[in-house]
Amino acid sequence: MAVIAGTGSIAAQAPLTVGGITARPGEKRSGFIEIPAARDSASRIPVTVVRGATAGPVLALIAGTHGSEVAPIVALQRVRAALDPAAMRGTVILVHVANMPSFLGRTIYYSPVDRKNLNRVYPGKRDGTVSERIAFAITNDVIARADYVVDMHAGDGNESLRPYTYWSPLGLDARTDSLARELALAWGHDHIVIDRDRPTDPEQSLYTQNTAHLRRKPSVTTETGYLGLPVEEMIQGNVSGAFRVIRYLGILAGPVETVRHAVWLSRTEVLRSPGTGVWHPRVERGHTVQEGALLGVLTDFFGDVQAEVRAPFTGEVL
Ligand SMILES: [Zn+2]
Repeated sequence: MAVIAGTGSIAAQAPLTVGGITARPGEKRSGFIEIPAARDSASRIPVTVVRGATAGPVLALIAGTHGSEVAPIVALQRVRAALDPAAMRGTVILVHVANMPSFLGRTIYYSPVDRKNLNRVYPGKRDGTVSERIAFAITNDVIARADYVVDMHAGDGNESLRPYTYWSPLGLDARTDSLARELALAWGHDHIVIDRDRPTDPEQSLYTQNTAHLRRKPSVTTETGYLGLPVEEMIQGNVSGAFRVIRYLGILAGPVETVRHAVWLSRTEVLRSPGTGVWHPRVERGHTVQEGALLGVLTDFFGDVQAEVRAPFTGEVL
């Protein structure tokens, strides 16, 4: 690392434009990235750019990739209000609601317009369906401008999640992998899922996080919240995670906190329903279970048990 002294040490910086929203040094500007209608309806992405008075890293915080995951959306409103650009070194880009069709349509995972999952269509297409056009705009207007990206999720309307973070070391670039690990520890969740199975082709990156990661921008996906609810504790968890990362990157001065004893989860499995019917869980988020423990039963629509679902290995219910 070079230490630069003299007049260059506090570098001025140029204005930053994100999809038509321009913030000069020391400014906080909000507006919309417009997604014009094409083969289906138009959409817009509310964005705030907070440009620090002096130069430094650019952090993008993205909420609402899945529209019913609302705790991060509420949290970014508080982050916007609390950020003081005059005190900042660097820039924070806030994407308040990435997936407006899903948010306004109250859908889980899928857009009500094109039935696609925004977090599976990256890097997007300029002339695609609305989810693909949103992904294209976030790739080219937000991720392209950022040095670090946090895609802020929560348990969707059907997901009773305990908080955790995805770290995805792909082994392609040691710096990106290692800084993403630091970001995960800075965010503050002590449970970190190691996901090595993301695609490695930047043109088929699929996920928000992976789109950044493959462009050598350290990135994590966080899960802070459950069941599509704006629970105060989870809103605060998102605000706290955002500011921990902001301080870790040196964008704001203050104590840097990092998780010291993380639980690294290298083996995870998403269990699929063995049939169609009604799910009756027998465990809660955060429970630990032995291999073979009953996790829940599937009944038909009348209440008669059709199948049992058991833990495939000993672990914790995320
Ligand atoms: Zn999600």
